[in-house]
Amino acid sequence: MYQYESFGDRYVLSIDNHQEISAALADFCEETGIEAGAVYGIGAVSEATFRFLDPATKQYVDKTFAEQMEITNLTGNISTKDGKPYLHLHVTAGRRDYTCIGGHLLTAVINGACELVVEDFGGTLSRRFDPETGLNLYDFE
Ligand code: FE
Repeated sequence: MYQYESFGDRYVLSIDNHQEISAALADFCEETGIEAGAVYGIGAVSEATFRFLDPATKQYVDKTFAEQMEITNLTGNISTKDGKPYLHLHVTAGRRDYTCIGGHLLTAVINGACELVVEDFGGTLSRRFDPETGLNLYDFE
């Protein structure tokens, strides 16, 4: 599903072609025991589902784009919620016409490569649901 090499508290992670990025990254976090961290990277995908949160309604609007795109940037953080890896990922994807689209990354299927750097903070960060914003915010207590 993926290959990786560690350098101190950082990992270089290469997810295999045709894998789904969010699922592979969550598996990687479980395998390595990362419960607080940061992730960034690049890649190419043939399909991606982005999520937009409407603050007025607190409703998520998801949209799938089935086309070849370059991940020009993926940036996110790693924490836990209810004892499981919680990935908060934002992504910008470049289209064939060189315009970009972006949003929260829900899922994306690699068509080419996906090369990420994952930083392990070495501790634990958890989240809880915040009714005011409709978001799963950090729980620092
Ligand atoms: Fe977000």
